[in-house]
Amino acid sequence: MKNPLLAEFTSPFESAPFHLLKNDHFLPAIEEAIKLAKADVEKIKSESVPTFQNTLEALDRSGKKLNVISAVFFNLNSAETNDEIQKLAREISPLLTEYSNDILLDQDLFQRVATVFNEKETLKLTEEQKTLLEKTYKSFVRNGANLSPEDAEKLRTIDQELAQLSLKFGENILAETNKYVHLIENEAEIDGLPEGIKEAAAQIAEEKGHPGKWAFTLDYPSYIPAMTYAKNRELRKRLFLAYNTKSSKGDELDNQEIIKNLLKLRHARANLLGYASHADFVLEERMAKSPHAVLEFLESLLLKAKPKAEKEVLEVAEFAKKLDGLENLERWDFAFYSELLKKEKYALDDELLRPYFKLENVIEGVFQTAGKLFGITFQPNSDIPVYHPDVTAYEVKDRNGMHLAVFYADFFPRSGKRNGAWMTSFKGQRTENGLEQRPHVSIVCNFTKPTKSKPSLLTFNEVTTLFHEFGHALHGMLARGTYESLTGTSVYWDFVELPSQIFENWCYEKECLDLFAKHYETGEKIPEELIEKIKNASNFQQGYMTMRQISFALLDMAYHSQDPSPIADVRKFEEAVMQKTDLLPRVEGTMASTSFSHIFQGGYSSGYYSYKWAEVLDADAFELFLEKGVFDQETASSFEKNILSAGGTAHPSILYRRFRGREPKPEALLKRSGLISA
Ligand SMILES: [Zn+2]
Repeated sequence: MKNPLLAEFTSPFESAPFHLLKNDHFLPAIEEAIKLAKADVEKIKSESVPTFQNTLEALDRSGKKLNVISAVFFNLNSAETNDEIQKLAREISPLLTEYSNDILLDQDLFQRVATVFNEKETLKLTEEQKTLLEKTYKSFVRNGANLSPEDAEKLRTIDQELAQLSLKFGENILAETNKYVHLIENEAEIDGLPEGIKEAAAQIAEEKGHPGKWAFTLDYPSYIPAMTYAKNRELRKRLFLAYNTKSSKGDELDNQEIIKNLLKLRHARANLLGYASHADFVLEERMAKSPHAVLEFLESLLLKAKPKAEKEVLEVAEFAKKLDGLENLERWDFAFYSELLKKEKYALDDELLRPYFKLENVIEGVFQTAGKLFGITFQPNSDIPVYHPDVTAYEVKDRNGMHLAVFYADFFPRSGKRNGAWMTSFKGQRTENGLEQRPHVSIVCNFTKPTKSKPSLLTFNEVTTLFHEFGHALHGMLARGTYESLTGTSVYWDFVELPSQIFENWCYEKECLDLFAKHYETGEKIPEELIEKIKNASNFQQGYMTMRQISFALLDMAYHSQDPSPIADVRKFEEAVMQKTDLLPRVEGTMASTSFSHIFQGGYSSGYYSYKWAEVLDADAFELFLEKGVFDQETASSFEKNILSAGGTAHPSILYRRFRGREPKPEALLKRSGLISA
């Protein structure tokens, strides 16, 4: 029998044939698909005169089979993996990297793209075509295609060194984290911790060979609850110091020299490619466009957030003094007293809300919300194969009853699924010769599974998570474009969270909650006062939280928007930058940079500001719905047309202006977070 991945897909809507797949299908299928993709590229290169159609359009359409097969494989590796699939991933990933490098380093191919690019003014291209041309050309150039052979060689060397330094940065933090364990012998010392957390601490101790005791590590799920709930101030202080001195102790796991080298190499790389700084390089392909714009954005938020944040810190300090006679509020006290203060102020806990959020009702609510806004409907379809019995496949139809998308929902945790929640797609959207390929998208979460006696009841946080991921899914499902590399969620990084975050706003609206938030036993609608409480509690310490995000974003920009060679002492540099955002006394010996993985290990360098940027966009965009009505048809269809369906077919600033009629403004976010009065 033929490898089902290479055969035509015969399941409904040509959906992935999960029911036929065996692990040993993947590697040969990928190898064959790479061959097919390479043949597509050879065909492009064999055409005589390069044109938009025979080069740019053809390139966008090349490697179709490879895209589909790798999507199936890597989605499974995230949602339903095992040792064998992980081993395969280690074999397959380098093949794909090599393939994409082969393309981006192909000088003949680049020359064809460049020829068309240089003629772009005379070609009468549509906006979408222009975007495709510019994006493709840039992807070659940003990878060094315009460099002399010597400089291109330099770039490769820098890239290799950067990859190794980032890897080492992460390994050092991991080693620091893994070697730390704090043992507790006496239960009285962990007073205040919820039972579940105590159990987890006991389990860690047992795993480390100390049964009958409790242990804390620097892993998030162990560290954060300890800092939030432990009454024992000494314990909090000890853990805080361990957590905030990671990889900064001058030993073999220290990251300070690595940071300096990373910064120098990133700067050199940017210069080589013709950019003033690493941030200039990164931001060229962001909605924000320039370091100057990002800094202005952060400074203006800082101005608004700081007075509120200072009041919030004072409030916690006074609360701690009243409660425990605490004279100096330290960094290891803040989370603990904040949690108690929050309880006192809002008396809102998860268990109070859960009964109103039965998973089935919430899903129905999400579907109805999308239906009221965009006229789409969801019908479960058991003929569409799924990769696990817990996954449900739906057929999605548009307002005219036409096929729109396939939607997979995978909600419950199991071994083999990674943590968190995400949206992904098995197939993108494109139009070719008048024929449309509609998208197949999926959302994957880790919600509490129902038992025989009790349904799955979500926390409010899980409800907003579901709406968030569903917002991403709408971006994928409502895509209407020609070129797959420009449709759906293929947009600039600081724009991609707009559809997801805006969708969360509906969870706070009575009109929306009334659709689905009913008590799972009595059927009673969620009381209005509870909705008010949720809203108020969500604004708790928004000033402080905003300042924290700004401080990291400013540190990121300080490192990446200028020549880093004057940075002699990372610790001093960080202190100087963070001074204006510090709200609590600095603790001697601690620092954030040496474990700032987002920017030194992951891909967030010059991008940390995006978190706040996206919030400004979603609040500002949702404000229009608040003005016109949360289910206003005109606003919804404008949002669909200009944002959701448009994907990356034009610059996000242009798309946003088409929807909002103007540039985004931060006032709506400031109002929503209570930083300015409504
Ligand atoms: Zn998201």
